[in-house]
Amino acid sequence: MELGKDLLEAVGPLNFDPNEVRLRFAAARDKRLREDGNDQFIEVAAEFSDYKDDPYLKAPMTRDPLKDTVEVAIIGGGFGGLLMGAELKKAGIDSVRIIEQGGDFGGTWYWNRYPGAMCDVESYIYLPLLEELGYLPKQKYSFGPEILEHSRRLARHFNLYENACLQTSVTELRWSCEEGLWRIRTNRDDDLSARYVVMANGPLNRPKLPAIPGINEFEEHSFHTSRWDYAYTGGNSTGGLDRLSDKRVAVIGTGATAIQCVPHLGEWAKELYVFQRTPSMVNPRNNRATDSEFAEELLAEPLWQKKRMDNFQSNMEGAAPNTDAVNDGWTELAARVTHAAVINMEQRLRRELSLEEAVWLVEVEDFKKMHEVYDRVDGILNDPELARSMKPDFRSMCKRPCFHDEYLQTFNRDNVTLVDTEGRGVDEFLSNGVRVGEQVYEVDCVIFATGFEVGTGFSRRCGYPIYGRDGLSLSEYWDKERATFQSYMVSRFPNLFNLAIGQNGVTPNQTHSLAEGARHVTHIIQEATARGRKTVEPTKEAQDKYTAEFKAAVDPLQADFFASCTPGYLNNEGSVENFSIATESYGPGAHQFFSELAAWRDTGLFQGLDFC
Ligand code: NDP
Repeated sequence: MELGKDLLEAVGPLNFDPNEVRLRFAAARDKRLREDGNDQFIEVAAEFSDYKDDPYLKAPMTRDPLKDTVEVAIIGGGFGGLLMGAELKKAGIDSVRIIEQGGDFGGTWYWNRYPGAMCDVESYIYLPLLEELGYLPKQKYSFGPEILEHSRRLARHFNLYENACLQTSVTELRWSCEEGLWRIRTNRDDDLSARYVVMANGPLNRPKLPAIPGINEFEEHSFHTSRWDYAYTGGNSTGGLDRLSDKRVAVIGTGATAIQCVPHLGEWAKELYVFQRTPSMVNPRNNRATDSEFAEELLAEPLWQKKRMDNFQSNMEGAAPNTDAVNDGWTELAARVTHAAVINMEQRLRRELSLEEAVWLVEVEDFKKMHEVYDRVDGILNDPELARSMKPDFRSMCKRPCFHDEYLQTFNRDNVTLVDTEGRGVDEFLSNGVRVGEQVYEVDCVIFATGFEVGTGFSRRCGYPIYGRDGLSLSEYWDKERATFQSYMVSRFPNLFNLAIGQNGVTPNQTHSLAEGARHVTHIIQEATARGRKTVEPTKEAQDKYTAEFKAAVDPLQADFFASCTPGYLNNEGSVENFSIATESYGPGAHQFFSELAAWRDTGLFQGLDFC
């Protein structure tokens, strides 16, 4: 492969051999690949259903079943549902009902109240509608309680508590052709109808457990991080887990959630064992308070939040390399280890890079970044063998990058042990502990930081089946071919919208994507209402065209990249050919995706839709 001299000079000398690193990463991936893919996890159902009980409810609600009709029913009261409700209300559509299984609004932030929970995306772009609500977050990165409170603030501001069905789970969605309405059944025997339904279930809403032999024989205490048992641990989401002072605690998993709760567990547990299969990449956090000077500067510019969100996303894609308003670990990573690095380098060299050069540059820059992460690990951990265990052998974007300033330090404590299972995971549960190889660890409590279902069937993740025209099941339809129109709609499922990540622009700033989706869906509902039509539905031709164009635009380098990654939920546990972020995210990027939706709206033609 011929690399330009100018490129080699610009990259500078390397203190590693890229071939050796590439082989090492490939070996680490091969070690982790397993045939059972998503089947290595247990659905939290049947004898495991306790793991999804709501520990945050003060008292279960009782109410009579409802039987009525609203204009728009929204399933899910997280930021997707809240943004949808807000947009509809702003558009003058008042007959809105949010159905939410939790005891309050908040979604992810309702459930994930583990100690130390925080959002790794900057608060000023993550918390929705800050300008409209006149609220400015306290820190650059918000902690869970502030975000949960903001959810409630949104619900109050847009009057979404009125008419909401909290503590209510949808059990079936069925289109009634005669009535031109969706019939919604719930676990409270409600018989609800709605002209339009928006599904805002969230992409990571169903906790999962590892199918480790003996898991149902463990007799001591256990829970999943998304259902934190403060009655057992003591304390609250800011820490103070004082009931753990005489407890031996095991944490299984070392992903983004574990990174945030392990420092609190290390501080309070008598003994803490962290069972690691794959180490995370842990970058510095550098959180800081929102000072008045910065706040003044921010608020001085009208539409500052929208501009800042757009600027972040442009930077993530290399479309605005000269201004980086957020300027944090995400934008740094994007500028260095994604396609943005190629664009930046082309500007610097004033020439186009060949495909080989581009692939080489991104890979080598990624290896450089990983070596900086290794230096940080070496600088923090006292024990070199432990440090070796905590160095990730994969490329930065293979897993969600993590940011924390206390996680690594926790492993210097005498009461904290990292159990490096070297890619295997825990071998077995016993009645009073877990076994890895020959070593048994007796513990009083196991905390599963093992994440959420991603690659399983759509209905299973929603928790309810969806039947469209002629009783067609959406899950079965999508099992044959995952097809959508503009990501949000599906032919033969009239008046149904899905705020999900499939066939969409993917961004780490999930609320940006949800805000764009809510705007787009509201625009269509408004038009159907203005035309006095009963249904709106994409034509099959428009859907086929959209899906084909979307697939053609999937970046093949991205698909190759994820295929070469260590297994995880981003690459469907190593099986990218099926549904995965690699095949479901828009190749030209989320920024471009949102711009194309806006351009479609601006034509005013509503091309591809049938209004009847
Ligand atoms: P993840 O799916 O990211 O991590 C699960 C962890 O469990 C991994 O370390 C995994 O190992 C491990 N694991 C699974 N099975 C076993 C086993 N049999 N033995 C040992 N370990 C096992 O879940 P998280 O809850 O950490 O995060 C989920 C997502 O939630 C994040 O990726 C992110 O999108 C979101 N999140 C966002 C935050 C934010 O700040 N915005 C904060 C926290 C979470 P392996 O890697 O080997 O599969």
